[in-house]
Amino acid sequence: MNSIGENIVARKRNEQRKCQVCSCTETTPCNPPCAWSDIDAGLCTTCEEAANAVAIWIAESHQPDTAALLKQARVILLDAALAEALKAYGAGGGQ
Ligand SMILES: [Zn+2]
Ligand SMILES: [Zn+2]
Repeated sequence: MNSIGENIVARKRNEQRKCQVCSCTETTPCNPPCAWSDIDAGLCTTCEEAANAVAIWIAESHQPDTAALLKQARVILLDAALAEALKAYGAGGGQ
């Protein structure tokens, strides 16, 4: 019989490694599939790339506004989804 303490330790050991930023795991990876970052054990390569890009943006932009950046990223995603939808809808049609 394991004590409660031993059970907690055993569960922690079996707990899946998870990216601290996006919560991806080995069984639920990013798309396309990521790997674990070499620079930080709690980071996946998808988020490492994003963090690198954001680091450059913080260093180079005049007044970095993270909320505005995320808003812009959502606009880009929506535009891409809209373009995909229009492409599918207009397949075979002229333009
Ligand atoms: Zn991640
Ligand atoms: Zn990932």
